[in-house]
Amino acid sequence: MVPRVPLPPGPNALLHLRKDYRMIPVITLGSTGITAPQNGFGALPVQRCDMETAVRILRRAYEGGMRYFDTARAYSDSEEKLGNAFMSDDYKNACPRESIYIATKTAAKTPEEFREQLETSLKNLKTDYIDVYQFHMANQCYRPGDGTGMYEEMLKAKEEGRIRHIALTAHKIQVALEAAESGLYETIQFPFSYLASEKELHLVELCKKNNIGFIAMKGLAGGLINNSRAAMAYMLQFDNVMPIWGIQKETELEEWLSYMENPPVMTDEIRTFIEAEQKELAGSFCRGCGYCLPCPAGITINQCARMSLMLRRAPSDDWLTEYWQNEMKKIEKCLHCYQCSKKCPYELDTPALLEKNYEDYQNVLAGRVSVK
Ligand code: SF4
Ligand code: SF4
Repeated sequence: MVPRVPLPPGPNALLHLRKDYRMIPVITLGSTGITAPQNGFGALPVQRCDMETAVRILRRAYEGGMRYFDTARAYSDSEEKLGNAFMSDDYKNACPRESIYIATKTAAKTPEEFREQLETSLKNLKTDYIDVYQFHMANQCYRPGDGTGMYEEMLKAKEEGRIRHIALTAHKIQVALEAAESGLYETIQFPFSYLASEKELHLVELCKKNNIGFIAMKGLAGGLINNSRAAMAYMLQFDNVMPIWGIQKETELEEWLSYMENPPVMTDEIRTFIEAEQKELAGSFCRGCGYCLPCPAGITINQCARMSLMLRRAPSDDWLTEYWQNEMKKIEKCLHCYQCSKKCPYELDTPALLEKNYEDYQNVLAGRVSVK
């Protein structure tokens, strides 16, 4: 049972937290002592780059002032890329180990698997300790004595000095709230952007109250937000939130680095823009996380269930190709098995959402609705 804590008055209630700064603020993550510029690097997308490009991007991020890097055992070779970028002999002097913070994750379900994954991560990262070690997409708030042995394994790893801080990432708000109340976790990672609802704002406040670092993933809501300035201005209002921006291209990196100096502050103009976005994207929309996959009917749910938004928020031609027409057509084969809804952390009625998007898509294709 999650203890009840009063909710803050509303999504805009915290907009007074910070008003002015000339350089990106440097924040400390709860009780960890980790102190870094409030502009972190999310290393999921670098798994799609070749090694040379990834190493170049990661080093440029460091040289541009980023210090907090987040990866996961589950992101194929992302850990290895971080290891090659920062721990190789040719870069060790430029980047002493204690000058950066590396967070990674384990999706282990047993203590044996946990140990195996930890050793692999340390080897990939070419380091003898991990700063922040997180239970990845936890479906439960692991506790000592819960019978799984998972928290005990975390503690052991910390005592051995293999990890510095015990942490958790979640997509289910109840799990994150329970972790924030438990006193067992030093940072919590959760999706957070300017589309946050009162529930997420409440979680951020709860973490602040309990001196827990809050790591914000999906700051661009899985690609739906395309105004990085507004996204950053929003994050910087919260002095306990570390955004980790998923970065794959040098151009994206330079955009985030440009905010190291003259970071955007919340102005009336940005506030009005965000309010319009919140209105447009309110309610049940697919964030594109893909946690509902695979679908037995082969539907690319994470794109098809948000096609209407993509058609209007990205160049629509890219989504009207023959390829995407065929992908959308698969919605006709939906079995209504609801496997997707059961796995969706946002508890969406995914089959209904797919149908709605398909209807709109057909209207756009037929020229009955314009998205230009
Ligand atoms: S339907 Fe839910 S789980 Fe699937 S991609 Fe969308 S938000 Fe994620
Ligand atoms: S309900 Fe439809 S979309 Fe969802 S998993 Fe089943 S077949 Fe796929």
